[in-house]
Amino acid sequence: MAASQLHVALAGNPNCGKTTLFNLITGQNGYVGNWPGVTVEKKEAKLTSDKSVTVTDLPGIYSLSPYSPEERVSRDYLMGGEPDVVIQVIDATNLERNLYLALQVVETGLPVVAALNMADLVEKSGDKIDVRALSRSLGCPVVMISALRNTGIDELIAEAKRAATTEGGATEHRFDSAIEGVLDQIEGCLPGSVPASRRRYWSVKLFERDADAVRALKLTDANARKVEQLVAQCEKDCDDDAESIITGERYAVIAHIIDGCLKKAPARMSTSEKIDRIVTNRILGLPLFILIMWAVYSIATGADAFGTAGTDWVNDNLFGEGFELFGQAFPSIPGAIEGLLVSAGASPLVQSLVLDGIVAGVGAVLGFIPQMFVLFVLLSFLEDCGYMARVAFVMDRVFRRFGLSGKSFIPMLVSTGCGVPGVLATKTIENEKDRRMTVMTTTFIPCGAKLPIIALLMGAMVGDAEASWISPLFYFLGVIAVIASGIMLKKTKLFAGRPTPFVMELPSYHFPSIRSWWLHVWERVSAYIKKAFTIIFASTVVVWFLSNFGVYEGAFGFLPAMEGIPEEFTDYSVLAMLGGAIAFIFAPLGFDTWQATAMSITGLVAKENVVATASSLLHIADGTETDPNLWTAFAGMFPTMGAIAAFGAFNLLCAPCFAAMGTIRAQMNSGKWTAIAIGYECAFAWVVGLIINQMYNLIALGQFGIWTAVAFAFIALIAFQLFRPMPKWAWDDDRQVAPAGTAA
Ligand code: GDP
Ligand code: MG
Repeated sequence: MAASQLHVALAGNPNCGKTTLFNLITGQNGYVGNWPGVTVEKKEAKLTSDKSVTVTDLPGIYSLSPYSPEERVSRDYLMGGEPDVVIQVIDATNLERNLYLALQVVETGLPVVAALNMADLVEKSGDKIDVRALSRSLGCPVVMISALRNTGIDELIAEAKRAATTEGGATEHRFDSAIEGVLDQIEGCLPGSVPASRRRYWSVKLFERDADAVRALKLTDANARKVEQLVAQCEKDCDDDAESIITGERYAVIAHIIDGCLKKAPARMSTSEKIDRIVTNRILGLPLFILIMWAVYSIATGADAFGTAGTDWVNDNLFGEGFELFGQAFPSIPGAIEGLLVSAGASPLVQSLVLDGIVAGVGAVLGFIPQMFVLFVLLSFLEDCGYMARVAFVMDRVFRRFGLSGKSFIPMLVSTGCGVPGVLATKTIENEKDRRMTVMTTTFIPCGAKLPIIALLMGAMVGDAEASWISPLFYFLGVIAVIASGIMLKKTKLFAGRPTPFVMELPSYHFPSIRSWWLHVWERVSAYIKKAFTIIFASTVVVWFLSNFGVYEGAFGFLPAMEGIPEEFTDYSVLAMLGGAIAFIFAPLGFDTWQATAMSITGLVAKENVVATASSLLHIADGTETDPNLWTAFAGMFPTMGAIAAFGAFNLLCAPCFAAMGTIRAQMNSGKWTAIAIGYECAFAWVVGLIINQMYNLIALGQFGIWTAVAFAFIALIAFQLFRPMPKWAWDDDRQVAPAGTAA
């Protein structure tokens, strides 16, 4: 263990501030989130102040007994021998729950330094923590810090470096003497190769009957039997099971420790608690969430809001007529590029590719940056200040009523940014059926890349002005799709089962640090820009080729240059042939044109492509004449409002982009389940589109046909599955519902 290569591991409960600390001391910008499970993979980086120190940010866990994948990741890493010292991050405002893990980490015998985080909040509350007393009873150095306000960090690093070079201390805390006696005897059964500092840890694990421990230690049969006898006898004496005995002992130790080091300020309701009386209120919680998300989407896409004003300015000036700045006239970007191309003597083919293909497509996507920016400024604020954690809590109550766990809602909150981390966040769900179901449904929530689709739909359906109330509808369509799917799927044999319990910390409300706020926004916006210049760029080139080359009067070639071709030359393109071949699928949804089909298909590569392809196709069709208003041009591609809404619903709900589908594949770890997930999403999206279009036709236009009947049949089927009581077998033991021959 040369001092030139020091490994520091950050361990702690979810939400205690590990990632905030990690980002602060390494200069990284890992995701700081206000709910558990955001850090599922461990993350490594060098210390900014000393490059010889490597810091690892571990997933948040509550205990070292592995119940969930992230607990296993953390434990395996800690016990794997790599870390030289563990910084045990403790949320000082929640000592009892945090010490539960801290005690176990100290028990491992690894050198530990405890970082009492959130010093700022402790100070504000008026509580007093005796750091020295805590250090004495934990048996490791303790440093008060605030990762958010950057206090105490230097001392923490210094302590960690010092601790790394010394042997891990012996565990200070002692359980009840009867239990200690049994633990001593178990220790005697351990192989001699287990070092002194680890012996207590392993004896406790054996006492708990931790299957991993039994395997790792390779006990002899005789010793294994002896341990089992000791544990069984102790269980009989205490009239309790082994795991509960240890849990009880730990809480007794914690109560004793807290007694000796914490002086609570006279109880008064903190501001956070006062806010929570309203925000997590049984009756008000849900409507408040709806109201807030409504405001967020309205502001981001609203007609007179900053985001839309920005997007309009970009579209009208940068991509429209050009603009004037400081009395100087500037051409628009397409204008400038056109000038360059013409003066360079570019052929019409190249001009068309660059202007109608790339500039129109990529430009349309870039035009939404101001709206994206506003959306993520608002969402990041809600996340960082602690509100979103409350939403998970509120939704848990709603979900539970339908047999779903609130844990399933966390990935959905993450998906509001991007479906990829959203799907990854499902790792925290222990129950396999619930996890699969959440993977299947979480991408129904509109991610950032779907915002342009929403904004476009909104503009196309209602025109520019006063349409902002439309866009939240599409967000809630996603939320409702998730909840409805959850309820329906839970009543099938594939997903039945009791919801897993859900506990989470509710951090105190605070004003986010500008740095982490900005990092969140920048992370999303920069990813969006990067995508525009890579995937979207490449896609627009492909779309341009497919829509400009084709067969006319038996000859294949560049269509606009062909003799006597009608103005609507794209109808002869390869894209028209490909799209036209499968467009019939969408006929009942009201948009069976090859253009709409092409948009939906390129949307599977990246959702921004729906807008990029629309813009590109419209430009090509119009020649070089730019329709100043993408909204109206887009609306002109559809027969009715109902068809636009159906197109929107289908594209927002169907299979997500390639990246998210890849993540689903990795998460499901099974081709069959990936197919089920993607198939369900597409089928569900199609049915919703069908219902929207057919109901619009019936109610607004008075049309009734065979597909109207089919739509009614689907409505009846969905209503049946939603409202029938939970089948009796659904909450029985899992094993009883498994078909014969598939026993695990
Ligand atoms: P992790 O789950 O342990 O990685 O925790 P995070 O780093 O994601 O932090 C959870 C929440 O606690 C975030 O909202 C942070 O802004 C907040 N937080 C972290 N450290 C502090 C601190 O020292 N003081 C205060 N007031 N908040 C903090
Ligand atoms: Mg974290």
